[in-house]
Amino acid sequence: MYNVASKKAEEFIDHQEIIDTLAYAQSNKRNEVLIDAIIKKAKLRKGLTHREASVLLACELEEKNQEIYRLAEQIKIDFYGNRIVMFAPLYLSNYCINGCTYCPYHLKNKHITRKKLTQDEIRKEVIALQDMGHKRLALETGEDPVNNPIEYVLESIKTIYSIKHKNGAIRRVNVNIAATTVENYRKLKEAGIGTYILFQETYHKESYEQLHPTGPKHDYAYHTEAMDRAMEGGIDDVGLGVLFGLDKYRYEFAGLLMHAEHLEAVYGIGPHTISVPRLRNADDIDITTFKNGISDDIFAKIVACIRIAVPYTGMIISTRESQECRERVLHLGISQVSGASKTSVGGYANPKDEEENSEQFDVCDRRTLDEVVRWLMEMGYIPSFCTACYRAGRTGDRFMELCKSQQIQNCCHPNALLTLKEFLVDYASGGTKKIGNEMILKETANISNENVRQKVIEHLEAIENGRGNDYRF
Ligand code: SAM
Repeated sequence: MYNVASKKAEEFIDHQEIIDTLAYAQSNKRNEVLIDAIIKKAKLRKGLTHREASVLLACELEEKNQEIYRLAEQIKIDFYGNRIVMFAPLYLSNYCINGCTYCPYHLKNKHITRKKLTQDEIRKEVIALQDMGHKRLALETGEDPVNNPIEYVLESIKTIYSIKHKNGAIRRVNVNIAATTVENYRKLKEAGIGTYILFQETYHKESYEQLHPTGPKHDYAYHTEAMDRAMEGGIDDVGLGVLFGLDKYRYEFAGLLMHAEHLEAVYGIGPHTISVPRLRNADDIDITTFKNGISDDIFAKIVACIRIAVPYTGMIISTRESQECRERVLHLGISQVSGASKTSVGGYANPKDEEENSEQFDVCDRRTLDEVVRWLMEMGYIPSFCTACYRAGRTGDRFMELCKSQQIQNCCHPNALLTLKEFLVDYASGGTKKIGNEMILKETANISNENVRQKVIEHLEAIENGRGNDYRF
């Protein structure tokens, strides 16, 4: 029986509820009256239920679809403005005891190069990342309690935060590691992580069990209930995601929204972020053997419908996607992108290592961070290296409240300008610097609060003249 507030995976992600939702969406995909009513509700910017959003996803009326895209675009601007937050993944270890059939880290893969970074190697990776200008990381490891125990992850986080190279600093470490215990989540929280990210991969239990035939990840309930344990352990910023291509996208979409509704219902805090990764080719993984791949059109529709259904959540797109695809969905709701990512263990300090095939999957967008930053600005976006919220205690319900009331802009916009300025001064090429400085000038003039504008101007000057950095509102 479906129960949004239950703590049991199979009750808050109830299979029958998803089947009924999909049937409802299918039978109403041309119901103009209903679709209009749902769009009208969406315009209130309070979100939609999984059923309502599923109808929009299924909608086959061209004119209504255009309205959905326009609304998604508007909601993105209202909640997140024209800012795009930048991050990079950092792969610590690809040792893994799971049997995930879509991931080359699976235990049976005997020819992939297994690697685990030492603390000294982590230092080198972090310096390489700082030298590009990164301030925010997502830590990634395979699941292996012997090679990658929680103590290793905690020690690595400490190392990362401790490295101050030139003007560089990693100010926010998000963590994407396998589902774990409440006690371990508490330790991660104490280590000062930003968001705990865990992709569900698929919400379809039967498929989930087939796709994860062996290892601890096989346990659907343990994996699906991970965010509940994370919340219990005190982590109030959690990131959801589905790996699109594993099962049918409409099923995943409904499941994802049910998961978000569950977190809201039980903890009063929805997902801080939602990621939308798509399956990629990798070492011994051939995506043509997976039958549920989605086109760029469907992908764009999913992004737009998530944006409308969960207006407050950050949405992340990685370098799994091409420049063209990223360009297409950015304005529909994306608020965070990775840049210059390496999915190999040790790939930032030693790009050669990629040839040793420790990569997790093929990266599609291989541009440098400077190129990505410039590209964003050329499209009118402000690349932001801001990490202020969790450092100022704006996490969980505090963040949600500010975001839902659209007040978060008052901090995010000035912080984006200040951190972009740091990037321009310390790391950008001449051309990027020129475009960036013009953008900062124009955007600073748009700050309506006189006091804030004056402070921003002072801080910008201080950064320019090397008199300080890491200012934040
Ligand atoms: N090991 C952790 C776990 O089990 O959740 C997470 C870290 S894993 C390095 C990060 C994510 O990469 C996985 O959750 C999965 O969704 C994604 N991934 C794995 N294989 C992939 C592939 N072939 N293409 C795209 N993404 C993939």
